[in-house]
Amino acid sequence: MSRLNSVIRRLQAQRDCLNAAAEMIKDQDGIVLEVGLGNGRTFDHLREIMPDREIFVFDRQIAAHPKCIPDDDHLFLGDIFETLPRAVEQFKGKVALVHSDVGTGDEALNAKIAAFIGQTLPPALMIGAIVASDQKIDVPGTIAEPLPEGVPQDRYFFRRFK
Ligand code: SAM
Repeated sequence: MSRLNSVIRRLQAQRDCLNAAAEMIKDQDGIVLEVGLGNGRTFDHLREIMPDREIFVFDRQIAAHPKCIPDDDHLFLGDIFETLPRAVEQFKGKVALVHSDVGTGDEALNAKIAAFIGQTLPPALMIGAIVASDQKIDVPGTIAEPLPEGVPQDRYFFRRFK
């Protein structure tokens, strides 16, 4: 497959997963955490498909398109090893959806970040909350949920907090 087709498929799968995750939480209140602003593509999509949800965004730096930068009150700027525990304390039991997209080219670092996110998140999650991620994250108290049709296994990961 050409690299162009590969990128298109990856982004289509990501969009399908975000749409499915929004659908999975549609009947519950709660805020959204977007972990990994990057250039703001997925943040922009999340706010488009969930205009009534409050979305809080995490990144160590701002490198997003100017129109895709949240206001200061919705931005946790800094290393998630510092900012995520603060957010979990602030949003205990109030989070309906976490989208984590912090994968780097460094597999060892990815594993360290995934382990940290998994062990840190639970107190923030409300019952039924979804954790959608580009990396496999073991979140205590959650079970795996199937991906949308057509999304290859291990392309994305869904967990639901029970
Ligand atoms: N979701 C974004 C989008 O659609 O544009 C792409 C996110 S990009 C793949 C990953 C982002 O995670 C980068 O912007 C990087 O700065 C951020 N990141 C990686 N490790 C981090 C850490 N330890 N703390 C905070 N941000 C981190």
